[in-house]
Amino acid sequence: MAKLLEGKLIAEKIKEEIKSQIQALKQKPVLASIMVGENAGAAAYVKSQQRVAESLGIDYQLQKLAQETTESALIEFVQKLNSDKSVNGIIIQMPLPAQIDYKKISQFILPEKDVEGMHPANIGKVLFGKAKILPCTPAAVMELLNATGVDLYGKEVVVVGHSEIVGKPLSLLLLDKFATVTVCHIGTSKAGKLEEHVRKAEVLIVAVGKAGLIKGEWVKEGAIVIDVGINRVADKIVGDVEFEIAEKRASYITPVPGGVGPLTVTMLMRNLVEAAKSQQ
Ligand code: NAP
Repeated sequence: MAKLLEGKLIAEKIKEEIKSQIQALKQKPVLASIMVGENAGAAAYVKSQQRVAESLGIDYQLQKLAQETTESALIEFVQKLNSDKSVNGIIIQMPLPAQIDYKKISQFILPEKDVEGMHPANIGKVLFGKAKILPCTPAAVMELLNATGVDLYGKEVVVVGHSEIVGKPLSLLLLDKFATVTVCHIGTSKAGKLEEHVRKAEVLIVAVGKAGLIKGEWVKEGAIVIDVGINRVADKIVGDVEFEIAEKRASYITPVPGGVGPLTVTMLMRNLVEAAKSQQ
């Protein structure tokens, strides 16, 4: 039976480190969080971010803008926050209304205030292995892997999902650890090759958003399984991996919820502190 990799427990340790770094700062760090319009999902993320920020001594400033805010008005708003010296980090909550293109807007956030680690300048540093600000979910996955104590050097690692916020940057971080990385995506599934790759994985990381995509019996005996997926199925939150069967085969597995999620928020706060340090 697999050991559970509970993000919450790992997050507690990292939060202690963050707290002591905050105490060494000249000022309480400030995170500006922009929410455009009303959305239940975004409101839930904001609440959990607010709770974590408060517990760490971070000033979380929620900026609510109207649903009909235009792209140019939002850019102007971001630029004001960029030049506000009291603001250390900026995050834009998703989803955004249809008239706003996130990719366009996120490039207007100053790289040194980009606490999501998604500005091209910050992603570029990930490529060169020199990033201090890492994309939050990939960083959370790396912390979970680190908590197993397993050396990734030469390991067969399979990442399912190649999105810009999870799979792609994560594959770069894994390469930095000298893992042998295979990235699967919709093309892999359409070619009927997903099972074949998953069965080889000594470390399996799934970030797709499709409940039950990864059959439990595909999981290699002793594999480490990190399930990033979040799916609502009949009023329950589940991941992308068939948990009950997979946990009987894996050595470590993340629960959903309670695995990657709690650590992702902690990584956001860690990025904020890095940003504040670099701005001192
Ligand atoms: P996304 O942008 O929709 O990306 C999903 C990825 O899965 C894409 O690369 C897609 O490929 C691929 N894919 C779709 N169907 C597939 C299939 N049948 N076989 C193999 N690959 C397939 O989603 P995301 O933002 O990366 O998020 C993925 C999941 O993680 C979601 O459930 C999300 O809620 C969750 N998530 C959790 C956290 C957390 O903190 N716990 C953070 C972020 C995301 P194509 O694009 O080529 O179709």
